[in-house]
Amino acid sequence: MKRSVLKFGGSSVADLSKIKDIANYLKERTENDEQLVVVVSAMGKTTDELLENVKHITSTPNDQDLAMLLTTGEQQTISYLSLILNDIGIKSKPLTGYQAGIETIGHHLKSKISSIKTDLFNQLFLTNKVIIVAGFQGFNKEGELTTLGRGGSDTTAVALAAALGSTCEIYTDVTGVYSTDPRIFPAAKRWDMISYEEMMEMSALGAGVLETRSVELANNNGIHLYLGKTLSTEKGTWIVPNDQMLERKAVTGVALDKDMSHVTLTDSSNGEALLNDIFKKLEQEEINIDMISQIRNITGMQLSFTAKDSDERQLITIFNLLKETYPDLTVSIVEDYAKISVIGAGMRDMSGVASRIFRTLIESEIPYYQVTTSEISVSCVIDEINGEKATRLLCQKFDL
Ligand code: ADP
Ligand code: ASP
Ligand code: MG
Repeated sequence: MKRSVLKFGGSSVADLSKIKDIANYLKERTENDEQLVVVVSAMGKTTDELLENVKHITSTPNDQDLAMLLTTGEQQTISYLSLILNDIGIKSKPLTGYQAGIETIGHHLKSKISSIKTDLFNQLFLTNKVIIVAGFQGFNKEGELTTLGRGGSDTTAVALAAALGSTCEIYTDVTGVYSTDPRIFPAAKRWDMISYEEMMEMSALGAGVLETRSVELANNNGIHLYLGKTLSTEKGTWIVPNDQMLERKAVTGVALDKDMSHVTLTDSSNGEALLNDIFKKLEQEEINIDMISQIRNITGMQLSFTAKDSDERQLITIFNLLKETYPDLTVSIVEDYAKISVIGAGMRDMSGVASRIFRTLIESEIPYYQVTTSEISVSCVIDEINGEKATRLLCQKFDL
């Protein structure tokens, strides 16, 4: 019997009537002799609301408590969906990450899945048509609940598909992967196919439509990954191995990352010991930084980088600790910048892409403050207020 993993994101399960519609769709699928593993996110903006509530309690929450709280969001959705399915005669079993045996390692709020026990699934499918798994959560060796980082239900779905050897269909509120966020540029083109490589780069650079690690996992395990619109018959996007892309455009997409802080550290020392301590701490705390630029000379050192807004609380704790050893250290964290990136695997063989990007920004009087490039992308730090305008201009420039 065919087995598939399906994932429905927060906006697709935002209220009970939407969950009922999904249940009816799942019923149809099971009637075609399919066994379904269904991963769901928390309803609507529940995760944001839970985090907002915490702000009224403390500015220094501990990660274990936060993980415990956030897992309740997805637990609510699996319960409703299972209640509805069982009510319409489709035998289903809801599982929390813990029950599903999703073991994780690393920090409580950005854990990585280390293993999943599939025996339980085989056993449950003897008596159930649908197994519903709470996305975004697992448990660690100490038996504590953990979460996988924002958007982590995508990763749960792909990890389950990898463990069960099935395809993975991710359903959301847009009809696939577009050249850029269609909410910013409604004329954006939807791709029928995009390579793992380009999708990973798009996600890592801020295209929130798929969580980066989910694409990485799909790539590493050769999972057939589909992204489509919930309950729509419109065609979505297949994320495919790089060599399956027949046509390669120089530029595939533009990603805008507003969720970033720009950090600059200066110190009067030449920085050797300080830099060592900073990078050690960032590694320990699993803080991902990007666009690193470093200057060291006889007058001192300056280090700047970008990081996720969500890591700011941890960064401030690290810097406060470092100031005890390095009293001259100055720290500036600017939140009103954004990172705009142009992505395309064809860039490797094509010259002039970067200069077209810079000219577009300059001609439109959009200042850019820092630039980095990879083999298949060019990123610029700009003012956040210019982010959406720059996205539209670059899409027009590259006919995206
Ligand atoms: P879900 O809750 O289903 O996981 P997300 O909000 O995480 O949904 O992701 C879907 C959103 O991603 C879309 O509503 C869209 O605004 C945004 N998005 C950003 N970049 C892109 C892109 N290149 N293609 C499609 N959607 C994109
Ligand atoms: N509910 C979590 C979040 O909002 C996980 C997810 O939606 O994928 O980040
Ligand atoms: Mg998402």
